[in-house]
Amino acid sequence: MQIFKTVKEVQEYLTKFNTKSIGFVATMGALHEAHFSLIERSKEENDITVCSIFVNPKQFNKKEDLIKYPRNVDADLDGLRKVGCDIAFVPSVEEMYPAKVQKEFDFGLLSEVMEGEHRPGHFNGVAIVIERFFEILNPTRAYFGEKDYQQLAVIKSLVEKLNSSVKIVGCPIFREKNGLAMSSRNERLSTEEKELAGEISKALKFVSTNRDTHTISELKNWFSNKMNEHELFDLEYFEIADEASLKPINNWLGSEKQIAFTAVNLNGVRLIDNMTIIN
Ligand code: AMP
Repeated sequence: MQIFKTVKEVQEYLTKFNTKSIGFVATMGALHEAHFSLIERSKEENDITVCSIFVNPKQFNKKEDLIKYPRNVDADLDGLRKVGCDIAFVPSVEEMYPAKVQKEFDFGLLSEVMEGEHRPGHFNGVAIVIERFFEILNPTRAYFGEKDYQQLAVIKSLVEKLNSSVKIVGCPIFREKNGLAMSSRNERLSTEEKELAGEISKALKFVSTNRDTHTISELKNWFSNKMNEHELFDLEYFEIADEASLKPINNWLGSEKQIAFTAVNLNGVRLIDNMTIIN
């Protein structure tokens, strides 16, 4: 596996593969099985796979969250070697942003609800870094997890806005045995907390399978009561939103497919998850 820290080096290397397809997986490190599944998918569908490890300061609206974000580059590189990744791109902040960036994207509702409402500026920061990566690497396909469903929707919209040829591929959510969606942030949970965190996906599962028997407001109350049963949980939001527009809805009519979305803080660790509502 090639490891590059500078834009110049990675670009020089990639020019050799001019005619080949490049698959790209953007990560913030502290890699786990879900990240590796994205790499594997990219390897199946492309000639070469590039994985970036970059904790993007622009997408953190709280400094404390950025400082606490888990970092373990050596273990990440070992994992990437094992999975057969071709190129690890590990740039510094200065390399990614040599000059001040002051871009303001407008994704409308997609970036205003849920994560957008609770993490102001987050999606603008995500769009800035992804545009920069696309500019540097010019990938054929880029792989993003449905765990960050709203991010995936924003990136699809970004690609349209930029008139970019990069094909965005959404990949299913990887979960622990107890249902907890895998996340780098889970590293900050104790074994007991990880066990408890499985309750979030179990509650989402109940919601996703009870469309026919409950109104949305009943399910919202049910979910919030369920989270309140455990004092370590602090529910940030729970919404049922239209799958395409991501507009939160209060009534099943008028939306063909829906997804339940939540963000829950568990002892200071922010966990997000979502599940498709079964019709
Ligand atoms: P991150 O390092 O958290 O920025 O994640 C890098 C990529 O991995 C993003 O596209 C995430 O959506 C994806 N990802 C993270 N966790 C999961 C998961 N549990 N299942 C599927 N994709 C994931």
